[in-house]
Amino acid sequence: MKRKVKVADYYGYCSGVDLAVNTLNRIMEKENNIYIFGDLIHNRIVMNELKSRGLKVINKVEEIPSEGTIVIRTHGVRPEIYDMARAKGLKIVDLTCIFVKRSQNFAKKVVKEGIKLIIIGERNHDEILSIQGAAGGDSIVINSVDEAMAITGIDKAGIIIQTTFERELAKSIIGVLFDKINYLEVFNTICDATEKRQESCKRLAAETDSFVVIGDQKSSNTNRLYEIAKSINANTYMVADKNEIDCDNFKNSKIVGVTAGASTPDYIINGVIKKIENC
Ligand code: SF4
Repeated sequence: MKRKVKVADYYGYCSGVDLAVNTLNRIMEKENNIYIFGDLIHNRIVMNELKSRGLKVINKVEEIPSEGTIVIRTHGVRPEIYDMARAKGLKIVDLTCIFVKRSQNFAKKVVKEGIKLIIIGERNHDEILSIQGAAGGDSIVINSVDEAMAITGIDKAGIIIQTTFERELAKSIIGVLFDKINYLEVFNTICDATEKRQESCKRLAAETDSFVVIGDQKSSNTNRLYEIAKSINANTYMVADKNEIDCDNFKNSKIVGVTAGASTPDYIINGVIKKIENC
C-alpha cells in the first residue's frame, strides 16, 4: 500500500521565479551568448540544466563580456553591474523580482531621508547585496535578536526585511529595535509568496507524522521552511531531490507532509512525492 503524502497548500515556484525561468527559457530558444551574473535562482539542479543548455554564468565584474545578452537574476545585482553592461553595449534582460525591486526602492528612500538603513536578513545574500547596492550610503544587516540587542547609538532608522525572512523572527527583532531607537520606519518587505509558504508549512508540519522540505541548501526561503517545520515536527528532513530521500526515516509514519522552496520546480517535487509514497 502506498504511504500517504500530503502537500502544503502553497509550495514550490513563486510568481517571481516562474516568470524568470520561463522568460529565460524563451530567450534561450532564440539567442546564443546569454550571460548571467551569479545564479538566476538558488537551485543547483535547475542551474546545472540551464548551463548544460548554454547559459554562461559569470561571477566577477571583470568577466562581463563585450557582446551578447546579460540576464539579471531574481535577487537583483549591484548598480555597477548594470553600468558595466550598458558601457559594453550588452542587451540587458532584467529578471529582478518585483518584490526585490520594491525593497530596493524603499531602501533608497531611507538613505535619501538621511536616517540609518537597517536590513533584517542574511549578510552577503545576493538579495541583500543588491538592496545595499541600490540604496548606496551606509547600512547594517542583522539576522537575529542577539544582533539587534547589540545595536547602540542609532537615533533614527528605516528597516527593510529580506523578502524570504521568517515573519515571527522579524517581529521579535523589530520589537528589540523599537525599544532602542527613537524614530523607526518599518517596511514590511517579506513577500506574499514567502508568507503563504511559511504559514501552510507550519499548519501541515503540525498535523503529519514526518515532514519533508524540498529545495537547495543555498536557498534562503527553503532553509527558513526547514527551520519552521523542524521547530514543530522533530521528524523533518530537507532534501534537494528524490535521490536524497532515506526511506528508513518514514517507516513509522502514516502521513508524510511535503513542501518545497520557491525555487524548486514541479518535476523535482513530483519525483520526491512518488519516492516517499513507495518507500
Ligand atoms: S520568493 Fe518572493 S521575492 Fe523571491 S522571487 Fe519569489 S516572489 Fe520574488
